[in-house]
Amino acid sequence: MDATYGVRALTSAELKEQAALLGFDLCGIAPAADHAELRFLEEWLARGYAGEMHYLHRSAERRRDVRAVLPSAQCVIALATIYNSDRPYSTDNVDPTRAAIARYAWGTDYHTVIQERLDRLLAWLHERVGGGFEGRAYVDTGPVQERVYAQHAGIGWVGKNTCLINADIGSWIFLSEIICNLPLQPDPPALDQCGACTLCLDSCPTGALVEPRVLDSTKCLSYLTIELKGAIPVEQRDAVGEHAYGCDICQDVCPWNLTRSTAVSSEPTWSPRAGFDGPPALLELWLKKDDELKALLKGSAMRRAGVRRLRRNLAVAIGNSGHAEAAEALATSAEPTVCDPLVSEHVEWAMEKLRG
Ligand code: SF4
Ligand code: SF4
Repeated sequence: MDATYGVRALTSAELKEQAALLGFDLCGIAPAADHAELRFLEEWLARGYAGEMHYLHRSAERRRDVRAVLPSAQCVIALATIYNSDRPYSTDNVDPTRAAIARYAWGTDYHTVIQERLDRLLAWLHERVGGGFEGRAYVDTGPVQERVYAQHAGIGWVGKNTCLINADIGSWIFLSEIICNLPLQPDPPALDQCGACTLCLDSCPTGALVEPRVLDSTKCLSYLTIELKGAIPVEQRDAVGEHAYGCDICQDVCPWNLTRSTAVSSEPTWSPRAGFDGPPALLELWLKKDDELKALLKGSAMRRAGVRRLRRNLAVAIGNSGHAEAAEALATSAEPTVCDPLVSEHVEWAMEKLRG
């Protein structure tokens, strides 16, 4: 069906063609409707699963329905971009002295890259449709339950690990969306293909997946190593293992990411930058000066945690590494972030653990 709003009609096929030209690997259309899955957010927040992510409470009303963001919204254009690289999964690494860094953070900050593509798609829509077009574009940070809309747009289903999975390419994808007032023909929603599998729930080291598709963020290593600003609770530090930033385990074990068709991006922008490839040795990262770590994080999504929180995480991971000689190195660094009270408390914990 054509969108007839504005001065020139636009078909979904034309839109998808343009999205592909701009580098998006998947594109689908979901109606801007009151989808049943959207209603669970309220209960999830009430259970306290958002932890310190207070912005989720503050924006809950808008997250309930995209029409609270754009009252004229008729559809959500759901987009996905593959970021997977050909490097081994974190679950293949058997060396606890090497850092686990979430795959999505290895390359250039996706917010910057994808926002640019979204802006170009928005500009094209304005140009193509003409007057009367209204649209809002978001990548990850918008007040939108993007996985719900992505499933209703047919580009994948929300797996029991809470990630969006596409049967052809897997789940190593960045989601983004444009909420707009075009009456584009919606795609059929994607069907759940997890079946009886529970590998992600069984493999999570912290039991953060409390039920299929329900994540208690306060237990998740991604939350503990990225979102949490203060101290990592002592009782959760052992489970951090070698994770220095984020966690991929529940995606690494997913059979849909282990098929021959699991997609790998050919874009250099998502390839691991020099300091993250390898994976890097925990101690090697620790021994870098603050300025060197800052330079390493520049232009990366890891800026979200910053050098201080990265140091905190590295201290815990080194403490878990069993690498007794590392205790000496932890003690001798005099970099400003190492002397920070938050970091030094984690260093003390790590040294105590390494010295038994
Ligand atoms: S990211 Fe890691 S800690 Fe979080 S739910 Fe997945 S496996 Fe568990
Ligand atoms: S590991 Fe299994 S249950 Fe978990 S998301 Fe993948 S297919 Fe679904």
